[in-house]
Amino acid sequence: MNDFLDTPLQFLKGVGPRKAADLKRAGLVTIEDLLYRLPFRYEDRSHMQPIASLRPGMRAAVLGEIKSAHLAVTGLRGSRFFQPGVGVGSGAIRCTWMNQAFLQDILKPHLSVVIFGDVKLDSTGMHFMNPEYELMSEELESVRTARIVPFYEKTGTVTPNMQRRIVRQALDQLPAEIPDLLPLDMRARLELVDRRVALEGAHFPANDVKVDELNACRTRPQRRMVFEEFFLFQIGHAWRRHATSMELKPYVPKVDDRIRASAAKILPFKLTSGQRGAVKEIVDDMLRPQPMHRLLQGDVGAGKTIVALLASIVAMENGLQVAFMAPTEILAAQHFGNIARLLSQSRFRVDLLTGSTPGLKKHTVHSHIERGTTNLIVGTHALVQESIKFHKLGLVVIDEQHRFGVEQRAALRAKGLRPDVLLMTATPIPRTLALTDYSELDVSKIPDLPPGRKPVRTWVKPESRRDEIYQLIREQLDAGRQAYIIYPLIEGSEKIDLKSATEMADHLQTEIFPAYRVALLHGRMKQDVKDRVMHAFAAGQIHILVSTTVVEVGVDVPNASIMVVEHAERFGLSQLHQLRGRVGRGEWESHCILLYQAPWTDDARERLKAMATTSDGFVIAERDLELRGPGDFFGTRQSGVPKLRTGDLVRDRDIMEAAHREARTLVDQGGLSGDLLQFVQQRWQEQFGLIEVG
Ligand code: ADP
Ligand code: MG
Repeated sequence: MNDFLDTPLQFLKGVGPRKAADLKRAGLVTIEDLLYRLPFRYEDRSHMQPIASLRPGMRAAVLGEIKSAHLAVTGLRGSRFFQPGVGVGSGAIRCTWMNQAFLQDILKPHLSVVIFGDVKLDSTGMHFMNPEYELMSEELESVRTARIVPFYEKTGTVTPNMQRRIVRQALDQLPAEIPDLLPLDMRARLELVDRRVALEGAHFPANDVKVDELNACRTRPQRRMVFEEFFLFQIGHAWRRHATSMELKPYVPKVDDRIRASAAKILPFKLTSGQRGAVKEIVDDMLRPQPMHRLLQGDVGAGKTIVALLASIVAMENGLQVAFMAPTEILAAQHFGNIARLLSQSRFRVDLLTGSTPGLKKHTVHSHIERGTTNLIVGTHALVQESIKFHKLGLVVIDEQHRFGVEQRAALRAKGLRPDVLLMTATPIPRTLALTDYSELDVSKIPDLPPGRKPVRTWVKPESRRDEIYQLIREQLDAGRQAYIIYPLIEGSEKIDLKSATEMADHLQTEIFPAYRVALLHGRMKQDVKDRVMHAFAAGQIHILVSTTVVEVGVDVPNASIMVVEHAERFGLSQLHQLRGRVGRGEWESHCILLYQAPWTDDARERLKAMATTSDGFVIAERDLELRGPGDFFGTRQSGVPKLRTGDLVRDRDIMEAAHREARTLVDQGGLSGDLLQFVQQRWQEQFGLIEVG
C-alpha cells in the first residue's frame, strides 16, 4: 500500500551501490527504514555564539570567516597542526586540527564557516580543538550546523553527516499525503501529530524546540512515532488474543463437592489467602469452554506447586490427564517425588519421564499415557514436544519457564491439542514487559508467603573475608542445618569453572569441614548421579552442597539455611534472587553471603547492593530490567520482547500503556481497518522479530 516509503535507498541522490550495501548491513533498505531510525541525540547549534563571549570549557557554535590559514609542524613526532583563525570583524578564534593537513584545501581564506566544538585553553591560548565545521557555501548548508542537529548511530562507512543529508533528501521528497495506519479519530482524540509532521520534527526539529526534551524523547513528533510503533505492536497482540479467545477446548471440566473434598484431602497444610485466590481464578478458567492461558506468579517459596496440583486434581477427577513440566531434570524429579507423595493415597497414577528415563521404562510410560492409565506425567519442558500421544490431555502445567511457554503452546497446538495451560514463574513481570507478550496472558498472583518464613539475611563480602564466612557456615552446620556453596559456570570457561568448583569441594571436605560431608553437583554429571546427590542432600546426609546454578530454580530443601555465592559479581540479579530463594524455606533464620572478587564493574556493584537492600522479587525484577535493558531480561526474542525501532520499553512506558489500551479497545469493538489487519497478518511478526506462535 505504501509506495514512496518502500522505495529502496539507492534511489536517493548520493547513495550508490556501495553505500546502499553499507546501509543494508545496518538494516536500512528502504526509505521507511531510514526515516524510522531516529536520531539518538540532538545538539543545539542554532544559537551562534559571539566570539567575544567564548570561554574555555564551553561547547559552542560560531559563524565567521576564515581569516588566515597555515599549517604548523610541532612536537617531537612532528605532528602537523592546521590552525586557521576564524572570526568576524576584528574578533577571531583559532581552530586546531591535528593531523588533518588536507583541511587546508577545504578551509580556505575568506570562506564563511560554522565551527562547532569545545573551546580549550592551553599554553598556546584559547582555541577550538578538532571542532566540526560546515562551509556555508556548501549545499544543504543548514543540515549540519546552525540549527538543532540530529545525531545518528553510525552505520558502516556512512558518516553521520551523510546520513543527515540523505534523511533530509528523503524528507524533502516525501509526498504531501502519506498513508497512516493510525485511525483518524484516534489521532484526533490523542492529539497525535500527522505522520509527515512527525517524521520531519523527529529528524529536523524546529529551532525553538528544547534540546533536553528532544533528548528525552518527549516532543510531540517523537512521541507520535513511538506511539505508532507501540500501537502496531499492541494491535498484533490484541488481535491474536481475540482470535484465540474464539477457540474451544475439547473437554471442559466440572467441579462438585466430591471433587472439592478430594482436593482438600491431599492438602498437607492450610493454604495462604494468596494461594486460595489463585486456585479459585485457575479453576474458574478451567470451567470455561475456552482454553486457559494463565500465568501464576509468586515469589520463590510462595507455594505455587500445591496450587498447580489442586488444579491438576480438578482435571484428573474429570478424567483428564495432566502434563507437569519443569525446566531441569532435578526439578522434574523433585516435583515427581512431592506429587507422588501427596497423591499416594489417591487413585491417581503419577509417572516421571525425562531424557534419562531408561528406554524400556520410557516405553512403558508412553503406553500408559496413551491408554490413559497415567493420570499425571511429570517431565522436563520437552515433554510436549516428544512423540507422546495423550489419551485425554486436559491440563499442562509449565513451571519456571521464563519464555512463558510460547514454544510449548505452539507445540501443543501443532499437535491439535487445546488443553488448559498454566504457566508458573517466580520472576515477576516488570510493568513494562507486562504489556508485551504477557498482555495475552491472564495473570494470577500469590502476593503472600506461607506463615513463619523469615527474611534471608544477606551480606556482600569481599573474598578476603572468607574465614569469617566459614565460621558462619560452621555455626549453621553445628546447629544441624545445611549449606549451599554456589559456583558460576560461564560459557566458554566451563572447564576452568568446573575445575575450581571441584577443587573447592575437595578443599572444603579435607581442610575446612572434615567432620561434615561435602558433595559436588553440576550440570555435566550423569542424571542418576545428580539424583543421588540431590536426594542425599534433601535427606540431610550431605551437609554442604557445592553446586553450579543447577539448583537455581525450584529446588526445595527447607533445612538448608545458608548459601554462599562465589563470584557473585558474575551473576545476574534475577538469578541471584532465584538462588537466594533456595534458603529461608524452613523455620530458621537463614543467611546468604554474596562473595565478590575485585575488580567488579559498577553494574555488579549495583546488583549486589540491590540484593542486600531488598528481598522483594518485584523490586529486584524492575531493577534488573533497568540494569540490563529489556532485550536481555529474559534472554531471547522469543520471550516476546519486541525489536523496536523508535520506542524504548523503559523510557516510554506511558506510551506503551496508552497504545495497549487503544489497541484492545479497537480490536474488541471490531474496528480493525483492512490496512491494519493486513499489517498484522503480513508484517507484524517480521517487524517485531517475534516467533510464530501458531
Ligand atoms: P515455589 O512457589 O517457589 O514453587 P513451593 O511450591 O516449592 O514454592 O513451596 C515452597 C515450600 O513451601 C514447600 O516446602 C511447600 O511445601 C511449602 N508450602 C507451600 N504452601 C504452604 C502453606 N500454605 N503453608 C505451609 N507451607 C507451604
Ligand atoms: Mg517452584
